[in-house]
Amino acid sequence: MSDLGELYQSVILDHNRHPRNCGPLAGADREAEGYNPLCGDRLKVWVRFGEGDVIEAVNFEGTGCAISQASASLMTTAIRGRTRGEALELFDRFHRLVAGEEPSQPAGLGKLAVFAGVRAYPSRVKCASLAWHALRSALVSPSS
Ligand code: ZN
Repeated sequence: MSDLGELYQSVILDHNRHPRNCGPLAGADREAEGYNPLCGDRLKVWVRFGEGDVIEAVNFEGTGCAISQASASLMTTAIRGRTRGEALELFDRFHRLVAGEEPSQPAGLGKLAVFAGVRAYPSRVKCASLAWHALRSALVSPSS
């Protein structure tokens, strides 16, 4: 197995066992839910803004396969501290990564790069991108 394959396994296992930023977020400004009928993954994402457009915190909670949970957990750590625009940009890059439209070892994506591993499994692409789609819905929905 390649180095990226091993890293993929260890990151997925780690975040699945010890999910980061898991549970409802106090004072959330936005929230959205995602459902992947192909696998049965369900999750909810909360977003809280700080100064201006900066995302101060992102939490998630859900049930589903290890890939969907690990991807959601890793996403919350990757998004924190970014602006709304940067977060939407990262959504696009992540989507291209799992769809196989970015190099498999892209620059600037950090640990998110391990999800390049799912591009060989089309049914897993939905698992890996579920949290990101929920995040995008939360960010583009009109504020309440
Ligand atoms: Zn899944």
